Amino acid sequence: MKITRRNFALACAAVPYALRASGGIRISYFDKFGKPTGALTVNKIVKTEEQWRDQLTSAQFEVTRRKGTERAFTGKYAKTKDAGVYQCVCCFTPLFHSSTKYDSGTGWPSFSAPIAPENVSTSADHDLGVERNEVHCSRCDGHLGHVFEDGPPPTGLRYCMNSASLNFVPSAN
Ligand SMILES: [Zn+2]
Repeated sequence: MKITRRNFALACAAVPYALRASGGIRISYFDKFGKPTGALTVNKIVKTEEQWRDQLTSAQFEVTRRKGTERAFTGKYAKTKDAGVYQCVCCFTPLFHSSTKYDSGTGWPSFSAPIAPENVSTSADHDLGVERNEVHCSRCDGHLGHVFEDGPPPTGLRYCMNSASLNFVPSAN
């Protein structure tokens, strides 16, 4: 291949992806009814900021790639009660099922558990000067929200998510 400015830049951009993708991660998949369809070892999804900006709306980009938080009661899934599966808006990994969604009164879509524990990851976040557990998508590291220990039984957890980080797939369609 002839080395041009363009393909030199593409070759350089590909290096971090190849390095990070080498291990593979385990993700569980589900149909729109929440029925498991199997687990796969897949590569992490790593994109440049420009690629994410092209794919996402500005609100989705701010939340998922900049760890932003949408204003309470403004997100499109805050009050959704329909049956279905909530995916990552960035990479469509299934994250939550409607059966664990509940009204937390906070104005953000809230769930008591992820659809599969391996599909979401958590990390400590001190951004507001207090320790919180940030929740992100295991496959693309997109920021989803935070998890708190004041949720309903049986988990006692409240996954406080941003609507902008989610894509809802209703069972009925
Ligand atoms: Zn994702």
